[in-house]
Amino acid sequence: LNAGQTQTLDAACIFCNIVGNRIPCHRVYEDDAVLAFLDIGPLTRGHVLVIPKSHHATLMDLPAEVAGQIAERLPKLSRAVLKATGASGVHLLVNNGKAAQQAVGHVHFHLIPRSPGDGFKIPWEAGTVADAEGLRAAIHAAIE
Ligand code: AMP
Ligand code: ZN
Repeated sequence: LNAGQTQTLDAACIFCNIVGNRIPCHRVYEDDAVLAFLDIGPLTRGHVLVIPKSHHATLMDLPAEVAGQIAERLPKLSRAVLKATGASGVHLLVNNGKAAQQAVGHVHFHLIPRSPGDGFKIPWEAGTVADAEGLRAAIHAAIE
């Protein structure tokens, strides 16, 4: 660890063990704060996970500073994934909580490259908003 760097690690966490080199992975990018590696079960070719090196369960738990470190690196990592795979589009996906299909409890940002005809599909059936004003006001009031 670098001087002044605060790292929270969880010995039982699979991604903390990847950060600590106790579990192997295919690293595509690494710096003091962020690690990116190939997903072991890719949804498309070049599917990459971007994680903070410190342990935080979900996006909701992420300190703003760490969220910023991730966000700062996403454009160049996305460009690299597209360039290397020849894909022309990419999904950024974060599953937070069991209800949102989160399986690994260390927040991770999926980069899922897309090409025409790759066969991957996210079902996207738009609904309608009931009580938009009440909902808007509730969410607005809940922002800390
Ligand atoms: P989720 O928590 O549902 O967002 O997804 C967890 C993701 O982590 C899945 O896409 C897995 O394929 C991936 N994964 C789990 N274990 C490993 C590992 N050891 N190395 C790389 N990717 C992994
Ligand atoms: Zn962890």
